[in-house]
Amino acid sequence: MTEHDAPLQPLRYVTLEAARALECNGCGDCCDSRRTDGFWAWGTLPPDQYREQCGEPLIIPLERVDGVWRDRTHQAEDLGWLSATRFRCSAFRPQEDGRGLCGRHDQWRPEPCGTFPVGDASIPLALAQGQDVPLETSAFPKCTWFHMVVVPDGDPRLTRPS
Ligand code: SF4
Ligand code: SF4
Repeated sequence: MTEHDAPLQPLRYVTLEAARALECNGCGDCCDSRRTDGFWAWGTLPPDQYREQCGEPLIIPLERVDGVWRDRTHQAEDLGWLSATRFRCSAFRPQEDGRGLCGRHDQWRPEPCGTFPVGDASIPLALAQGQDVPLETSAFPKCTWFHMVVVPDGDPRLTRPS
């Protein structure tokens, strides 16, 4: 059994304030598609792959050929939000304990790196409309925010985040 087949945990219902008060544990699984067997992907990758801001390509598209991941060149389809570009990141720093740290934590990073999974402006907008916001962490059992749903203040389902 892989970690992606792990038994489901119950959903945790939290306010946006509580969710944003939590900290990333550095599992690293959202920083490289290979860590989710290709499930997690990048959307809207510019042709220079953020070379302008980083001095070198940051997000590297990947393809899997005969079961082996390898770098590929940027393609027009990678510009689309739904492109599902499998990727690795040149700033990713794998750790001996299996986690992975960001080598650009204190420098410019693409917007999703700073907002995932609770910083997106669409979350308060959805809450204001009375909607629940399941966080996009279903692929990451080790994530701080795994199986977490953000709900409006005072919702009777609220649970203590752990
Ligand atoms: S820049 Fe940092 S946070 Fe963004 S994908 Fe790379 S390693 Fe992850
Ligand atoms: S999956 Fe969650 S805990 Fe892991 S690095 Fe990404 S944001 Fe942090």
